[in-house]
Amino acid sequence: MIKVEHIVKTYRKNTVLHHVSLSIDGIYGLLGSNGAGKTTLMKILCGLTSASGGDILIDGQSKMRRKYADTSEIIGFLPQDFNLYPSLPVHEVLSHLALLQGIIDKKKRYEAVQRSLERVNLTESAHLKMEELSGGMRRRVGIAQLLLREPKILVFDEPTAGLDIEERIRFRNLLRELGHDHTIIISSHIVEDIEFLCTKIGMLSNGRVLFEGSPDELKSRAEGMLAESTVQISELNDWVKEYDVVNIEETLDGVKVRYVDEKNGDHAIVPKLSDGYLAVMRSLG
Ligand code: ADP
Repeated sequence: MIKVEHIVKTYRKNTVLHHVSLSIDGIYGLLGSNGAGKTTLMKILCGLTSASGGDILIDGQSKMRRKYADTSEIIGFLPQDFNLYPSLPVHEVLSHLALLQGIIDKKKRYEAVQRSLERVNLTESAHLKMEELSGGMRRRVGIAQLLLREPKILVFDEPTAGLDIEERIRFRNLLRELGHDHTIIISSHIVEDIEFLCTKIGMLSNGRVLFEGSPDELKSRAEGMLAESTVQISELNDWVKEYDVVNIEETLDGVKVRYVDEKNGDHAIVPKLSDGYLAVMRSLG
């Protein structure tokens, strides 16, 4: 369990995190639009940048007092773009990174590489060069290098950005599997990315926490606020101008439009996660 307590981050005079407090466990989705402060918070969590105030407790112990401590045994961080040593084969890249991570003993290093490769399903591709891999496979190498030192917490910054649908599904399954024995934090600005995966969600906007709770709780924020109508394509532009349209779906009779109607919402409509997200975002305005 990770407790984020009143974290403040200021760059010069610009405060980008305002007393952010979160309770992180399971597979945790950190949602928010670009610039919300997700990456900054993740970097503070992993000790890659310092906070201006507040504390982080991991299993009840403060991490902030152990400034500059190497956290890679506890937390592994996968940045948005993992693409190192393009001309080297995967197993050599991992072995090299294991050495950099302090696994000096040759046998232990070999075992750590094999174990990590297996965990991300890349044993068969270990001889391929990094530049020969697809985006999804490269990201799996990124995860493999996180696993070398067997940390209990894994942090992924926008892990599915740039992946095609098939890779996205495979990646999601891998994260779900890793979730059995790791605490996982995933940031995203795309709600669909974390749907069906996360057990808990935190929402940030302009460096402030807007929501924290289960996916069902987030969905329920949109209950009674949605309405649906079927309109003709020629009317669609007017609808989009007039209403806050959250979804459109082509049907045989025209276009089914789902829109926000706080006063006359239809309680029979079951909200999706993205509806809850929008409802919380709207509550700002
Ligand atoms: P997100 O990951 O949600 O897109 P970030 O954490 O990257 O958000 O950024 C939050 C805010 O902090 C943005 O306004 C960004 O411009 C600012 N920021 C991030 N890194 C720095 C930095 N090194 N120096 C100054 N401002 C920064």
